[in-house]
Amino acid sequence: MTTPVYQNFINGHFLKNQSGETFAVKNPATDDVIYYVEVADAFIQNAAIQSAKQGFAAWSTMSPIERSRILLKAVALLRERNDLLAKTEVLDTGKPWQEAECVDVQTGADVIEYFAGLAPAQVGQQQMVGEDFYYTRKEPLGICAGIGAWNYPLQIACWKSGPALAAGNAFIFKPSEETPLGAIKLAEIFIEAGVPAGVFNVVQGAAEVGQWLTQSADIEKVSFTGEVGTGKKVVASAAGSLKDVTMELGGKSPLLVFDDADISQAVSAAMLGNFYTQGEICTNCTRIYVHKNVYQQFIDELKTRTEENIIAGDPLDPNVNFGALISKKHQQLVMSYIDKGISEGATLLTGGKTLSPASAPNGYFVAPTVFIDCTDDMTIVKEEIFGPVMSVLTFDDEDDVIHRANDTHLGLAAGVFTKDIKRAHRVIHQLQAGICWINSYGNSPAEMPVGGYKQSGIGRENGIETLDHYTQTKSIYVGMTNIESPF
Ligand code: NDP
Repeated sequence: MTTPVYQNFINGHFLKNQSGETFAVKNPATDDVIYYVEVADAFIQNAAIQSAKQGFAAWSTMSPIERSRILLKAVALLRERNDLLAKTEVLDTGKPWQEAECVDVQTGADVIEYFAGLAPAQVGQQQMVGEDFYYTRKEPLGICAGIGAWNYPLQIACWKSGPALAAGNAFIFKPSEETPLGAIKLAEIFIEAGVPAGVFNVVQGAAEVGQWLTQSADIEKVSFTGEVGTGKKVVASAAGSLKDVTMELGGKSPLLVFDDADISQAVSAAMLGNFYTQGEICTNCTRIYVHKNVYQQFIDELKTRTEENIIAGDPLDPNVNFGALISKKHQQLVMSYIDKGISEGATLLTGGKTLSPASAPNGYFVAPTVFIDCTDDMTIVKEEIFGPVMSVLTFDDEDDVIHRANDTHLGLAAGVFTKDIKRAHRVIHQLQAGICWINSYGNSPAEMPVGGYKQSGIGRENGIETLDHYTQTKSIYVGMTNIESPF
């Protein structure tokens, strides 16, 4: 069987590039090349802009309720094709089917549905100013771009395009080079649902294609999901044409477990927040601060459940709950952090090695890893690893642990486990993070705004306010009286 080659998706169809340049995409669980993708060369880039201009002209003049109706059809198609799309995500990312089947497509569809519902409800204002008055209109920005990470490829494409399209913008999306297929599937679904050609385009390639999007003067906004360092480059480049930006970046988030907490629940949160999607989640609570009084109980249960309940293997096997990391390179990076943890004096409670499960012997697996005896100055406690590596620390004073939790330039997420309602709110209000959980961890419904404090981001995705990030306000003053002129 020949290996498929996917082209860029422009103006409602696949378009062949002129350079002939392609790149290979591997299944992280098998190390096999599963398909090739054509790079968006200058011809494709130019075509994407022309296509988006045409798409914008058609889409932005439709009424919000018409746009909403079409987007809801896309939502229905996403849900109808859940299993097919989930399989695409498993093959591209290495994550378990168990997760993709109920999370990736569903949470993507939820967000488009949410913004499709909100679009017709967006209203301007009017106010009398003497006998004259003014009114405002919420107008789309024009052509917006999205640049995605590889951990939730389809979901990220939905989370960015949902509000952008609902508000009447055209979109050009660049998925990560590691996971290009989900966005193509979404583009096909939009066309099938009736979104006009050119409204949602997919360009493929690595950093250079991303850079082009951030530089293009025809693009009004870039919404980026990725590493802090890349985010800084994107903001700097977008400044050249004063583009609006949304930045969803990395984190090193704390989870505080007080001595009155339900310890089993706290262990569940710590495991979900470190081992779900094999640790490749931006909001992960990779710094777990446990009160000294419950520390032993916490790590005993954590060790047992990590060693007994996690099943690594072929991600398509529905019994497997722990998949392969995205690439060999990333596997090596995660292992280098584990080596650093050991050399800097942390103790391995469990894991700390690569895995080669019988059902997926060539996959890029790293065992779920827990370090104890950690200190705040260790590299594994300070830097985002983006793999299944948890650091456990202890505390006995509330003010002190808040100070330690906040002592980082990142501020994406945070969590608190306690049964004391006053303490829960008092502590969470002092934590410097944009996405917070009390006696819970990781849930991110469409209705809830998400985004980072400090260097973890700019702007928000999801929630009502995101529509404002994809519109601009036009003020219109209406003269009802004669103009008084000194001239
Ligand atoms: P990267 O920053 O490496 O890449 C993100 C995207 O940017 C990719 O599509 C990449 O292309 C592209 N890119 C790379 N360089 C440039 C550039 N100079 N200009 C424009 N685009 C560029 O992140 P990863 O893909 O490695 O994703 C992991 C990171 O994403 C983690 O830090 C994680 O915390 C963060 N993340 C944040 C989320 C949030 O909501 N806050 C959610 C998910 C992940 P290519 O990869 O094809 O080279």
